[in-house]
Amino acid sequence: MLRQLGPVTKPALAQSSGISRPTISKLIDELEEHDLAERIGVTSPTASGGKPGALYRFNADGVQSGAIFLTVDTAHLAIVNGNARVLGSIERSLGTDRRPEPVMILLANALQELLSLLHLTTDQLLGVGVGVPGLTSFRAGVVHFAPHFPEWHDVPVRDLLKARLGVEVWIDNDCHVQALAERHFGEGQHCTDFVTVESGIGVSAAFYLQDMLYRGAGESAGEIGHMTIQEDGPLCECGNRGCWETLASTTWMVERAYERKHATLLQTEGLILPKRSRADGEKEEKLEPQIINEVSHAIFRIARGGGLEATALVHQHAAHFGTGLAAIVNALNPQRIIIWGDSVAGGTLFLEEVRRVVHQRALRRPREMCEIVLSSLAPNGSVVGAASLAIDALFTSYQSYL
Ligand SMILES: [Zn+2]
Repeated sequence: MLRQLGPVTKPALAQSSGISRPTISKLIDELEEHDLAERIGVTSPTASGGKPGALYRFNADGVQSGAIFLTVDTAHLAIVNGNARVLGSIERSLGTDRRPEPVMILLANALQELLSLLHLTTDQLLGVGVGVPGLTSFRAGVVHFAPHFPEWHDVPVRDLLKARLGVEVWIDNDCHVQALAERHFGEGQHCTDFVTVESGIGVSAAFYLQDMLYRGAGESAGEIGHMTIQEDGPLCECGNRGCWETLASTTWMVERAYERKHATLLQTEGLILPKRSRADGEKEEKLEPQIINEVSHAIFRIARGGGLEATALVHQHAAHFGTGLAAIVNALNPQRIIIWGDSVAGGTLFLEEVRRVVHQRALRRPREMCEIVLSSLAPNGSVVGAASLAIDALFTSYQSYL
């Protein structure tokens, strides 16, 4: 609240928060002691003769946290301050040896390198947040399974990194950290109930409900991309048929673009499709993630420029995506759904069609209460999200006062 309302006086903060003045006063003093709040002046005396009061604001530079975000082949590292400003960042290729131990060494060395570039030491960090695409346990600090790291099974990433770095480490999956980033710095700042949904090669979600991230009993909540929406639909990576993801992902859109009737028209709009390659021993030609990203972004770009065939494809993609969102609106009654990932590149064209389909399919009451928006955190949302794990732990530790 101090971050959002500041500069503000102690009495004004007490009034806005509903917390007693003595408690607020004690809390602000403690934050000031830890460099997290700063006094920046006094209010002018009121016309009725009221006393001037000291003004405080959140000291964003008093907090620095490390952020590590792993993707298929790259580690993205950053140092982020308390207002989500990236103070410095580097990227490191993970190379061919992706076993846990070499990756931990690479991450620890890269973080130390980044800190020395910024003339900082690990002592000055609140901690390090790590975002990993895969099945993770926040409570145990373990990565159970990560599809792009085949040798990772129940890896205690938190303890391994903590031992190397000497600071607190938190880990969680990519969708969960995105929700925390939205809550602290993005489109979820003023919401108690919202859902973030990734639209890209995969589709998954995170549920921030009643002002906390809902991780689930086994901490795997959010795998809504595998909700069946067509019983006899296309085969999914998970082995099931007709998962929402098989129709709503950018992979679906790019697969359509390769069909002859679409490919010919898209070519007249300037889309040159890269040649598909068949991996050895594979029966079906599976699209490489790199090709899906490249082609989907090209389709979004051509559609935004007015290409009719590209627009039609983006609309179909958005309609499939909106169908699943309608189910989320009905099931959870959120204040907001925040879309992040590759499809954000579709802009208003994509968003308007998603909204139209949700309007058509969701029940009236929850639909009228739910605003569907695109994330404004892109493209550095992922590292900000990882840093949010540390920021969230800080704010949670102060919640004992409330
Ligand atoms: Zn599936």
